[in-house]
Amino acid sequence: MIARKARFRHHKTFERLCGYHLPSSAFHGAVVEAINSKINFEQLKPEVRNQILFFIRDFTRCNCRDAPLCGCPERKFARKILELRENGLDHRGIADNLSHDYGLALFPADILSYLEDAVHVLLAVLDIARLSDQKNLVLKTEEHIKLTER
Ligand SMILES: [Zn+2]
Repeated sequence: MIARKARFRHHKTFERLCGYHLPSSAFHGAVVEAINSKINFEQLKPEVRNQILFFIRDFTRCNCRDAPLCGCPERKFARKILELRENGLDHRGIADNLSHDYGLALFPADILSYLEDAVHVLLAVLDIARLSDQKNLVLKTEEHIKLTER
């Protein structure tokens, strides 16, 4: 799961502001809860505050009863990476984008291997779609493969 590899660049600052040790993964439930409710945003630099607000807005908003432990944040994050790729960014560009917009640090190599895994999954979906003669799904899957692989 690619979300597990994401860390906040300002992890240490967040720990200081909430007063206890936090797991290093940005999408760990304890971290998501801390940035949602334990950190006083007034004490953050405006740039960092905006990154956290974008992170909360884009990844942690859902109506599940057990949010943020429902899996939605991790799924939304994975979808974000695929969207950035389909919009033409390579793995380095995606890492830069996530760092700039959300203050997240990821290794480009981890993003690249995630994208390669995603293509393998899509190829498996394509096989099944062809075998079961689902033409619409075949076309959609081929399109996603083309955009992700290029
Ligand atoms: Zn959810």
